[in-house]
Formats: sequence, C-alpha cells, structure tokens
Amino acid sequence: MAYDFDLFVIGAGSGGVRAARFAASFGAKVAVAESRYLGGTCVNVGCVPKKLLVYGAHVADELEQAAGFGWTLEEGHFDWGTLIANKNREIERLNGIYRNLLVNSGVTLLQGHARITGANEVEVDGQRYSAEHILIATGGWPQVPDIPGKELAITSNEAFYLKELPRRVLVVGGGYIAVEFAGIFQGLGADTTLLYRGDLFLRGFDGSVRTHLKEELEKRGLNLQFNADIQRIDKLDDGSLKATLKDGRELVADCVFYATGRRPMLDNLGLENTGVELDARGFIRVDEQYQTTAPSILAIGDVIGRVQLTPVALAEGMAVARRLFKPEQYRPVDYQNIPTAVFSQPPIGTVGLTEEQALEAGHKVQIFESRFRAMKLTLTDIQEKTLMKLVVDAETDKVLGCHMVGPDAGEIIQGLGIALKAGATKLQFDETIGVHPTAAEEFVTMRTVTR
Ligand code: FAD
Ligand code: NDP
Repeated sequence: MAYDFDLFVIGAGSGGVRAARFAASFGAKVAVAESRYLGGTCVNVGCVPKKLLVYGAHVADELEQAAGFGWTLEEGHFDWGTLIANKNREIERLNGIYRNLLVNSGVTLLQGHARITGANEVEVDGQRYSAEHILIATGGWPQVPDIPGKELAITSNEAFYLKELPRRVLVVGGGYIAVEFAGIFQGLGADTTLLYRGDLFLRGFDGSVRTHLKEELEKRGLNLQFNADIQRIDKLDDGSLKATLKDGRELVADCVFYATGRRPMLDNLGLENTGVELDARGFIRVDEQYQTTAPSILAIGDVIGRVQLTPVALAEGMAVARRLFKPEQYRPVDYQNIPTAVFSQPPIGTVGLTEEQALEAGHKVQIFESRFRAMKLTLTDIQEKTLMKLVVDAETDKVLGCHMVGPDAGEIIQGLGIALKAGATKLQFDETIGVHPTAAEEFVTMRTVTR
C-alpha cells in the first residue's frame, strides 16, 4: 500500500526534529506536526531560556567579586523586563533556525495538533495523512499535585513569561528544575524559599554533592526548608499568596512555583485508536528499539520517561532514523554514564555512579574527595567551596563516577564523560597532565584516598 509518508513525526522538539531531519536525509518521505513551538520544550521553555536566566543571575556573583579585583561599580540595577525581552528575541531566532533545518532537509512541516486516528493514520486540523511509521515525540508537561489552590501556582512554563520578578517566591520540589529556578530567582534578587518534601533534595545524586550544595546554597542565603510540603494555597486581599504547610505553618509569598516532575504529553493524542500501551508510571511503553506495543508506532524522548534530557532525546531520535532508514548504521543508545549538569548556583556536574550506587552494585570502592576555595575567590571575601569527588573501583582501578559542585561544573564534566565511556582507570587519571592553574586539574591530582 502506498502511504503519504514513510514517517510521520508528532512533535517538533529535541527528539522529533532529530529523527525527522535524519530520516529525510536518508531518503525517507517525512512529515512533522507541531502544535505549539518549533524546537519543543528545550528551546522554548526548557534548557535554553533557563540557561539564559542562569547567566543573568550569575552576573550578581561577578558584581560581588568585582571589588576584590579593583573595580568600583555604581550600584547595579536589574530589569527583569529587559532580560525576558532579550531572551524572547533569542528564542524566536532559534525557532526560525529550527524551521529552516526542517524545511531545508525536505521535511513537510504541519503546524497544528496531531491526533492518531488509526495504526497508520494521523489527523492534523481535519486533514488525514497516512504513514508507514508514526513516531510519537510529544514530550512532557509540568505536573502539579492536586491541592486546593493549585491554580494559583505557576510552573516553569509560566515562569519564563512572568511580567515582573516576584519579590517573594516559594519554590516547591527538590529536583533539577526546583534547584535551578531557586538559584535564578534568588540570584536576581527575589527573597526565595525552597520547600522539599524529603530530608534532603536531589534524590539520586551523590550524597556528598547533595550535602555540599545544601551548605553552599544556605551560605548564599537561600531559605531551604526540608520535610516541608504545601497543603493548600489561598489568595490574600492584597494579592499575595498564603501557603499553608502540612505541618500547619503559613508562608506568604508573591509567587508559588511548582517543579514536582513532568508527566508525558498524551493529551488528545488518540492513543485509544491504537494498540499503544502505557507503563506503570503512565509513560509510553517501548522496547529497546523504541517500538511501542503497536507495530507501526514508535516513541522517543520525554514521553517514554526513560531519561528526560535533551541529548538523550536527540540520541533516541537518531537511533530511530537509522533503524528505520539506514539500518547498517544503527547503534543502540548507551544509557550508561550519561553526563549531566544541574545549573544551580553553584552548578553540579556529574557522570557515572554515585558512591551509594557503587556500593549498592557490590563494588569495593575508594573515594577521593577534595574541597577547596577556587582561586578566583581568593581576592574576594566569598567563602564558597568547590567539591570534586571520584568514585573508584578498588579492585579494577576503574573510575566509576565523577562528581563536582562548583563553577563551570557542567563544562568540566563533559570531558570526564568521555574518559568514563572509554573505561579510564584512576591510574590514567593520575598520569594525565593537569591544565594549570584551573579548578579542573584537581580531577587529575587527587592522590589521597578519603575513604
Ligand atoms: P519536547 O522537546 O517536549 O517536544 C515535544 C513537542 O511535541 C513539543 O514542541 C510539543 O508542543 C509537541 N506536541 C505535543 N503534543 C503534540 C501533538 N498532539 N501534536 C503536535 N505537536 C505536539 N534537558 C537538558 O538536557 N538540559 C537542560 O538544561 C534542561 N533544562 C530543562 C529545563 C526545564 C525548565 C525543562 C522543563 C526541561 C529541561 N530539560 C533539560 C529537559 C528537556 O527539555 C527535555 O528532555 C527535552 O526537551 C525532551 O525532548 P522531546 O523531544 O522528548 O520533547
Ligand atoms: P524531577 O523529577 O527532577 O524532580 C521532581 C521533584 O519534585 C522531586 O524532588 C520530587 O520529590 C518532588 N515531587 C514529586 N511529586 C511531588 C509531590 N506530589 N509533592 C511534593 N513534591 C513532589 O522533576 P523536575 O520537574 O525538576 O524536572 C523534570 C525533568 O526535566 C528532570 O528530571 C530532568 O530530567 C529534566 N531537566 C533537566 C535539567 C538539566 O539537565 N539541567 C534541568 C531541568 C529539567 P522526590 O525526590 O521525593 O520524589
């Protein structure tokens, strides 16, 4: 049977665009439907605008350090409107680049909501298209717990478009987004409190990293409240918001920001017309090759809930394009040793096993840990400490994990990700010549076993 398209991609985000472009470059006839914004979450309400706001908040650090280097500055003034307008302009530029990328690679771009109407059929704005393969790359959406007054709270989606910087912010959650936005709001001058329901935020990260970041954030004056969760939110007469916690305490703020995880975006997708099944957490169930339980339908990225990171969605998109249209080049995605950064202030960079994971997996571990004050701070009064940590297998000498909290952690950890992928040993780290004077050289000069 002749189909309109070889591949119909739903969602022009990180994974969908990658799969569509490469499938087209391999000779396939490809369509992409996008209902909201080209480039998806990452470009519009994720990684990119977030990083721009982090840069904005970081300027406060530079200003604080300036005096130590002999600079006298007049009192600075921050204007949220300017930052948001400049950010919006950059996002629009990127939207245009994504459009060109798709169109120039021969992909048919359909702007509208796509709904699957059959095993090989998708409807966009009343028009039906047939395709041999359908790829669901619809991403995720913020999830806010169902508490009274939840409509008064905002999520990352709205935070990027706030008209003004709130004076007092309550950030709820203890994952990537909560920690990053707490740093943004506080760095830009808002009185910020982070509420996390457990004992210590960033569950799943290395224990030393979590404790170290907690200490550094507290030094910066961020109000961290652990074992704290909101029961209800009410609007007060003066327009501010009152959050009543489960322990009865009441906190008043101008903005309550929820970052309590993301659900798969399946709204009105028409899955009931297919044999696509969901897993126990509600994400689309796929096999190792991103095949859903319906033979003609595949899924990648946040909607399968494996690892919700842009480079992972890109890798999965690439794998699907190759598997379908260039099988001789197919290589499975390697989910081990994925380097990642949390763009908190200071940031975290991490790759490989945490100390806790290594012990749980039965490794006999050696821990190398170093805490120091970065050279840049020695001419200032700032007492922030950088943490670097290596988790090493005591029997094989293989480096199992590298963890850092400190300036440029994300930049530094990328190279260490290659070392871990290549299976580097601690001896090879030791034999690598350092780059001096940098903070990064500490990763190749740690000699004394801490534990
Ligand atoms: P998405 O990029 O979400 O794309 C899905 C697209 O599908 C969207 O454009 C959506 O409009 C469209 N769509 C949905 N349903 C339909 C439909 N029925 N019809 C047509 N179109 C539809 N990751 C990192 O690696 N680094 C970071 O620093 C980082 N920061 C982040 C910060 C925030 C605030 C958030 C929310 C996420 C961040 N992420 C980061 C995660 C990253 O953005 C996601 O992992 C990534 O975007 C997932 O790509 P995707 O292709 O699966 O989905
Ligand atoms: P995460 O899953 O990282 O964190 C969710 C947080 O919310 C956890 O601390 C969780 O607590 C808490 N939580 C969940 N449900 C509730 C609830 N009902 N009440 C109170 N607290 C709750 O999600 P995020 O929203 O922060 O981010 C989504 C994903 O996006 C990340 O996991 C990451 O993959 C990606 N991302 C990546 C970034 C990067 O690469 N720098 C930046 C931003 C996002 P608990 O731990 O107790 O379950």
